[in-house]
Amino acid sequence: MADTFEYGGGRVPPGEVRHTRYAISETFLGDPIRVPVTVVNGERDGPSVFVSAAVHGDELNGVKVAHDVAARYDPSDLAGTLLVVHVVNPPGYLAQQRYLPIYDQDLNRSFPGNERSTPAQRIANELYTGLFSWCDYGVDLHTSTRGRTTMFHVRAQTEHDGAARLAEAFGANVVLAGIGEEDNSIRSSCTNRGTPTITVEMGEAHRFQRPHVERASAGIESVLTDLGMYDGERLSPTWRRVVNARTEKAWVRSDAGGLVDLHVERASVVEGGEAICTVHDHFGTEEHVVRAPFTGLVVGLLQNPVAQPGHPVCHLVSVDEETRAAIEAAS
Ligand SMILES: [Zn+2]
Repeated sequence: MADTFEYGGGRVPPGEVRHTRYAISETFLGDPIRVPVTVVNGERDGPSVFVSAAVHGDELNGVKVAHDVAARYDPSDLAGTLLVVHVVNPPGYLAQQRYLPIYDQDLNRSFPGNERSTPAQRIANELYTGLFSWCDYGVDLHTSTRGRTTMFHVRAQTEHDGAARLAEAFGANVVLAGIGEEDNSIRSSCTNRGTPTITVEMGEAHRFQRPHVERASAGIESVLTDLGMYDGERLSPTWRRVVNARTEKAWVRSDAGGLVDLHVERASVVEGGEAICTVHDHFGTEEHVVRAPFTGLVVGLLQNPVAQPGHPVCHLVSVDEETRAAIEAAS
């Protein structure tokens, strides 16, 4: 018989599914702020994995993934435990905004939190000590910030074996490695404290984008399969690029303000020196061309078509000739 799964919100015996709400703070009215949580505890022993969404309250693709994942697995098919935190940041989610309202704090820069500090720190502490820290592994789901879009990719601290394993098993084409090692995100805080966790980035805020949602659900199945928790499909992408986030990627920025005319598409490869966009003044008399500093894959791209000096227009990761050929063959 497998183990009862214990966490800050209670105990779930093997073979059971529990849908519950876990209190993380209180509103001005003194009412509880609670996150919806599903625990699926398998009939057989195995690791525990959390899947979390909407720590940035307007990033909805992950909420749909969590919704699908929570309904997909039956305890009789599972060895180990799946803990789904459907909405990590309820105040942001209710306001449909990225940050915690009132103080405009980024909950995903507040982990692992502190029980005697700010509202964001206390909320993070409740989430970390009550939920995430009880798991062996984690997958935290994100989208691009409002006004931008991102191709499907994974971020991981691949110097940790567990995180490297998850990043590989998830099956994304692009992995940003060594990114934000102490940024107080869910990913870095959990990884550095013994719960290796990856971040998945996909698409735009304020949307359910079906292809991304399905791919992320398949990635989670692949992770569970790799960990021996489920008998499913283990993904292996046709090409894969692990990028050193310090040296092999760049945010390409405009040096002028104005209207942006984009010349490239998300997930395409641009040549070093090629025009990424042209920024026009409103009179149509001046233009400023933003060029790729190196040959790279367009991972992130501006959507809101205005810019000012310093505005990021394109997130570019370098690719070698071999990867480039594989990307072009696959598209
Ligand atoms: Zn996010």
